[in-house]
Amino acid sequence: MNYYDTLVLGGGISGLVTAYKLNRAGNNVLLVEKNLNCGGSIESFNVEGNIYEYGAHSIIHVSSAINSLIEELNIEDSVLIAGENSYKKFILKDNSLYYVFLHPDSILNSPIFSFKTKLKFFVEKFLPRSKDDYSITVESYIKKRLGNEFLRYFMEPAASEVYAGDVSRLSIKAAYPKIYALEKEYGSLVTGMKESLKKINSGELKPSGSGKLISFKDGMSFLTKTLVRKLDGKIQNLSEVIDISKTQNGYCVTVNNAGETKVFYAKSVISTIQAYKLAEVNSFLPAGLVKTLNGINYASIVAVNLSFKKNDVRRLLEGYGILTIAAEKKPFRTVIYSSELFPDKYNPGTTVFTIYSGGINNPEILELDEEEIFESFILELKNIMGIKGDPLFKGIRKMKRALPQYETGYGEMDKSIINFENLNPGFYIAGNFRGGISTGDSIKNATESAIKIDKYLKDLKFNESN
Ligand SMILES: Cc1cc2nc3c(=O)[nH]c(=O)nc-3n(C[C@H](O)[C@H](O)[C@H](O)COP(=O)(O)OP(=O)(O)OC[C@H]3O[C@@H](n4cnc5c(N)ncnc54)[C@H](O)[C@@H]3O)c2cc1C
Repeated sequence: MNYYDTLVLGGGISGLVTAYKLNRAGNNVLLVEKNLNCGGSIESFNVEGNIYEYGAHSIIHVSSAINSLIEELNIEDSVLIAGENSYKKFILKDNSLYYVFLHPDSILNSPIFSFKTKLKFFVEKFLPRSKDDYSITVESYIKKRLGNEFLRYFMEPAASEVYAGDVSRLSIKAAYPKIYALEKEYGSLVTGMKESLKKINSGELKPSGSGKLISFKDGMSFLTKTLVRKLDGKIQNLSEVIDISKTQNGYCVTVNNAGETKVFYAKSVISTIQAYKLAEVNSFLPAGLVKTLNGINYASIVAVNLSFKKNDVRRLLEGYGILTIAAEKKPFRTVIYSSELFPDKYNPGTTVFTIYSGGINNPEILELDEEEIFESFILELKNIMGIKGDPLFKGIRKMKRALPQYETGYGEMDKSIINFENLNPGFYIAGNFRGGISTGDSIKNATESAIKIDKYLKDLKFNESN
């Protein structure tokens, strides 16, 4: 029987969590995924006892939804929590590393910033409030409030780490809603930073998660594989959605299942596939919305894992890792000290770095051949870290159009999707291009989507029986 309560399109973390939650609530669910395996941007590999990540490296525990999921799945024993220093990120400037934390005291004490920039932290509160608009870029917002140096030595590397994005295109309100909200709430960004930290320290403000960085003993894929196990019999892999239409009682989804066409019907559908992938599907989506989805930029990424003998690495590794400055044109933008953060994922005596490059301003790197990429990364890393030997292992993944960009058109995009969903009850468009790009955001948003869909299905049942 090809009739379901809900069809979930896409088997990344967003689709898996949505399907799992709906199934757990007693709904008849089917998830369709184009690839042989689920997981999407989460991909871990075990090579001789070391667990390498090529997609998401870890989860920041910022939402209670993460805890609930871990508890429901009964996988608490597999969770790894990074140490106290894991929030420390170092900016590489002129071949020296500087620790900068997004708090006025840390910035005022940092030798990376000039007196002029530090002065801006005192006068920012006298600036007029910014208008409430998605069209303000990270570049113009930060430059105006905290100056060019803060933009180039802090925000740009930070935006590069999370979005692999361009600060002149990212929207401050869409890409950094928490930073933006501080100014809205306190009238000043700097006052907001100080006050919110004071409230957290005094216990007055309770973050909904622990804020800690987590992973799993067998890597991030352990989470997606556990969800797949829980959804046994409710996933169709190798099934690419090619057509979506409306029916009298809901929706019809056609997939290409390894060359064979299959048709499924459902009362509700949630798409969690990439925006440009949804735009490719032949569907009843209006041309305007298809154009909007196609207009969402995605950054291409190169992810490299390198492991060395611990004794060959002379620099003391502390904290999360390194972020580079765009103007210095380093071959990579982020280096994560993977084996320092989660030593239980690696063999003793091994130091592992996970390195990301590419991004919206450097897609050309994907065209280089793998050996060329390894060579430039290893040379630079040896230089920064004082490494004397050659790598024990090197692995690489090139990911085209991997990370959605929260750019200035975000507000319009979100509005068009909401309008569409209102006109088409039971059809939902989700995924990491809406409401937060991180794995943690994806889990939180998928949990909320499942609650919304479950309510829709219950209301439908109630209305049918009355
Ligand atoms: C390199 C990289 C590093 C990252 N690092 C971190 C990190 O350290 N921490 C963090 O919190 N976040 C990180 N992220 C972000 C986070 O991993 C993603 O945002 C999140 O995993 C996205 O999940 P998703 O399910 O929304 O989308 P995706 O994972 O993109 O899943 C979409 C799924 O839809 C499937 N699909 C596409 N088209 C079709 C179709 N027509 N029919 C059926 N299926 C289809 C795809 O095959 C895929 O499985 C990283 C992302 C990348 C790419």
